[in-house]
Amino acid sequence: MAKQVLELLPEELIQSILDLGEKKFRAKQILNWIYLKKITNFAEMTSLSETLRLKLQNQFYTTLPTVIQRSISIDGTKKYLLSLSDESKIEMVLIPNGKKNTLCISSQVGCARNCQFCATAKLGLKRNLETYEITSQVFLAIQELGEDKLTNIVFMGMGEPLDNFDNVIKAIRILQDDLCFNFSPRRITLSTSGVIPQIAKLADTGIKMKLAVSLNSAIQTKREIIMPISTTYSISELKKTLIDFRRKTSYRITFEYVMIKDFNIGNEDVKALLRFLGDISCKLNVIKWNEVDDLPYKTPSDKEIEKFINSMSVLSSAITYRKSRGADIDAACGQLAAKYIHNVKE
Ligand code: SF4
Repeated sequence: MAKQVLELLPEELIQSILDLGEKKFRAKQILNWIYLKKITNFAEMTSLSETLRLKLQNQFYTTLPTVIQRSISIDGTKKYLLSLSDESKIEMVLIPNGKKNTLCISSQVGCARNCQFCATAKLGLKRNLETYEITSQVFLAIQELGEDKLTNIVFMGMGEPLDNFDNVIKAIRILQDDLCFNFSPRRITLSTSGVIPQIAKLADTGIKMKLAVSLNSAIQTKREIIMPISTTYSISELKKTLIDFRRKTSYRITFEYVMIKDFNIGNEDVKALLRFLGDISCKLNVIKWNEVDDLPYKTPSDKEIEKFINSMSVLSSAITYRKSRGADIDAACGQLAAKYIHNVKE
């Protein structure tokens, strides 16, 4: 059966090439064409003999998602609505910031975790993405950027990445391999809603990357309201698992906190958050809630945001107020829903 090239680790491609009776160095030539020259059509790989090119065409193939719509925000953020080979729709978002270009990718079609502030949750889980459907978003983004360099990748698009553990981990290995995409581990961030067994499993894989945890409340009962995963995996258990994760891996954990008016930015929320984060070596990213149709939550005022951030400043951890990007095209945090937006700039 023909194999998807973008889901093969170099050692797997080398083995397939040896199985075809070819020399190992041919695999490296193919990897060069794909990952350095961005050529996936074997017919164009002119350093290979015509016979080999024909053989490869029968054995391997590459499928990139089809871009159905590009929406461009006034701040330069680009959202891509993508169609996969079975017509499933996902979204990826490219966020330029000076010389930095960050790609936010999806790991599932929809999501089962049902976070109450998230538009993706409304879709439910349709299916996991295959490894090549994850790596091909990166390949596509690199093509879209042209001369500009893709610098960072975040698994913060549609889906809970740790619910698609094996495919996501393999994709990260391909993204980091120096014969493939060659991304440094510090340039890849995986964001989770807090799937405790998989966080523990992730620590044991030895694979390096940055881990972000979507926290949004340090009060158990409140977190259960907006993040139902908390009813299965409590915040106290989550904290223990994260401390253990931090011990086994090299990077500090980042907590993401979406500020929601009249819900999680009051005095008791601050106290609970300070208690929760006080003894963990971590970073805290706060971001304001972006309104989503049909969801009851509201965006706090600038004054309320300032008050909340000031009251958190006693924390020794680094606190960053991440400005929302792409909110006008529904590309900001929590807004991805794989739907057409009308009247966008193309
Ligand atoms: S926030 Fe993430 S984990 Fe929660 S429902 Fe949305 S996509 Fe899933």
